[in-house]
This record gives sequence, C-alpha cells and structure tokens, in this order.
Amino acid sequence: NSVPTQAAHQPSPAEERPIPAVLGADLEVPVKGGRLVGYANLDYAASAPCLEPVSAAVAAALPAYSSVHRGAGYASQLTTARYEQARHTVRAFVGARPDDAVIFTRNTTDATNLLAGCLPEGTTTVVFDTEHHASLLPWKNAVRLAPPAFPGEAVRAADEALAAIDGPKLLVVTAASNVTGELWPIAALAHIAHRHGARIFVDAAQYVPHRRLNLTALDLDYVAFSGHKLYAPFGAGALIGRRDWLADGEPYLKGGGAVRSVAETTEWHDDPEPRHEAGTPNVLGAIALAAACDALSATGWTALVEEEERLIGRLRSGLAAIEGVRELALWGDAHPRVGIVSFTVAGYTAREVAEALSGEYGIGVRDGKFCAHPFVRHLLGESDGGCADGTASAVRASIGIGTTDEHVDRLVEALRDLTARTR
Ligand code: PLP
Repeated sequence: NSVPTQAAHQPSPAEERPIPAVLGADLEVPVKGGRLVGYANLDYAASAPCLEPVSAAVAAALPAYSSVHRGAGYASQLTTARYEQARHTVRAFVGARPDDAVIFTRNTTDATNLLAGCLPEGTTTVVFDTEHHASLLPWKNAVRLAPPAFPGEAVRAADEALAAIDGPKLLVVTAASNVTGELWPIAALAHIAHRHGARIFVDAAQYVPHRRLNLTALDLDYVAFSGHKLYAPFGAGALIGRRDWLADGEPYLKGGGAVRSVAETTEWHDDPEPRHEAGTPNVLGAIALAAACDALSATGWTALVEEEERLIGRLRSGLAAIEGVRELALWGDAHPRVGIVSFTVAGYTAREVAEALSGEYGIGVRDGKFCAHPFVRHLLGESDGGCADGTASAVRASIGIGTTDEHVDRLVEALRDLTARTR
C-alpha cells in the first residue's frame, strides 16, 4: 500500500518501451445505408483518444481517493502524494528548471488566462495573428503581428516589435500550429525575446503530443498544454514557468487552498501552486495527464516521431495528387510540421466535406476555422475563402498514436471519390 512513484526521467534506448495502444481502436460507426465501419479518427488535434496506460492509472487511483492537502486519513495522504507526484512528472516531461512553478489548470485556455492575470502592471504582449484564440485573446495590452512570410521573418518582426516597447514585455508564440501543424522557430524567438529583456510564453498544446519539449534547453519562460490533446481525458492542463510573476499575480480563483490565513485581512500563499489552485483540484485529471506524460516519455520519442512522419507524408502526397484539394501552409511544403494538415476541396464547403467523410466513409475530421479566425482568413483570403460558400473555412485531418495506413488511405480515397462526383 505504498504511494506509487512514476518514472520522471528520459529512458535510455535500452529502456524504451513500445508505443502504447489507445482505447477505442475497434470502435465501429454507422454510415449511409446503415452499414457499420471501423471509425477512422483523424481529429487528434481537437482531442486525442485515451492511452491504455492512462486509463489504467485512473482505474488504479479510483478505489481510494480523497481530498488533497487537507486530510490526515490514508486516502487523503495517498491522493495528495499522487497529485504532487503528477506535478513532478509534468515538470520532468517539459524539462522544466527545478524552481519553475507547475500549476494544474483545466486546459491551455485556462493556463493562458491565468498567466495573463499575473503579468506585471504595464506589460505589453507581442503576439502573432497566427495564434489559436486561447493564446491570441487573453492579453490586456497586445501588439498583434501579421502572419510572417517565412520563419526568419517571424524572428525579425518580433525583434522589431520588442525593440519598440518600453517596460515589461512578453512574446507569445505557438510551438506547432493547430491549423497547418507547422513548427515555429521557438529557440530563435526565445533568444530574441531575452535580448530585449522580454519573456516568452510558448503554447505547446499541439507540440507536446508529437515532439519532446525541453523548456530549459530552449530557454523558454512559460509553456502550457492540455491533457485532452495528449491522450488523457478532458479537464486537466498545465502552466509551467518562472515563479516570480505567478507568485505576485492576483490569485486566479479565490477560495480555500489558496490562502495562508483569513481574518480581517486575507493572506494569500506566495507559492504559485496553492495560490492559483483554489478549491478541490481535478486530481484524477492530473493523474491522467501525468500518466500520459510518462507513457510518451517512456517511448523515447524516436519511433513515435518516425511513424507520425511516415503517415503524414503518406497523407500529404495522397492529397497532393487529387485535383481540387488544396493544402494550407504558411511556410510552404517543405517546412517541418507535426501530424496536422488542413485543406479545402474545390466545389464543396468544408462542412459538406466533413459531413460526407463522416456519413459515407466513417471518417472523423474537423471543419471550420479551428479557433484561429485571423490565421485561417489569412491563409484562405478574405473574399471567397477558397470554399464553395465563401465562408473561409477548411477541413483539418490530424493523426497520432493509433492512426493506421488504412485510415489515411481511406481519407485519400474518399476525397478522390468526392472530387470525381458530378454535382
Ligand atoms: N492552443 C492551441 C495551439 C490549440 O490547438 C488549442 C486547442 O485546440 C488550444 C490552445 C486550446 O486548448 P484547450 O481547448 O484545451 O484550452
């Protein structure tokens, strides 16, 4: 009955474990005519399916849990230890510095809003119009930069914008785009930010499910991500980074757990973790998130990245061979990306494509503007949006653990069928 500890180190090649399986791989869904077909889930960038070891970790925690940081009972102590162990695991997963804060949030959106509330008075934020709304909208005083034409242009634009700002400044950037999957030059941007005395926040929501992140090596000040995109269930995310702003910031929620004492005046905790985690936390969410971190780290990443690159390459060359399908990219075909690809289909709205893929072929994709309206508008052009109804929407296919050649080929075949149809 001892408190379990989770591996918090990167495995040596000899210790690497095989890529774990996801739940629901045998899910069947109805298509036109009432037939059942195996579900081709190509919507990982929205929410990824749960990994088997994540489900097992939650199942193991369920029989004995109780409130954290409050009780002397065994279940409370066990749950508190598991919750704090999850914090260590998240810290190790992103390669954080020993004194970085690790705050559990609901998701990435919660993390960016928390950080926005902790910026020192007068902070100016510099943010690209390519960001997901979670990283575009929370900042009180923001300078917005147009989508850069190439990666070096991103660095140059950030350099120029930061040079023109006095006082505290924060550069906000995503590590991997949720629209195009393209990787951003975060190390170069961190370097530029620090040269101007600014800090950098990196939205890693679409990066950490696909690549190893090392906050210390990249010299990032803050990162955030969501459990539900990392093969854990909904409801838990994390904000990791430098303690000082977080220790001084207004407590994100006001209530029990965030205070040292309450009398005539309230004395808040200085440590960011209790200060911003008032109320009973989502302990099972944190355990699930940490189990996902552990499961991915245990693979050593190499096999995972190779398989993803093989599959996304197969998908992209399939799409490129279909007349009328146009892939969206900010920085061109050759720029590295994670397993995400967005496209339009001539003669169809994005919604028509997504509905046909689901209803006729059992394929799940996302359609719309992916909570990145300025970016998608930029990629498609304001006027006709590249779509049949002029709504500036696209279709997004995204892959991960559990995606197979058959899923990818089915999507390519389905799009070939659709584009060949006389309408
Ligand atoms: N940032 C990026 C790049 C995303 O793709 C998303 C979700 O799609 C978010 C932030 C927001 O994540 P959540 O909805 O989990 O808060």
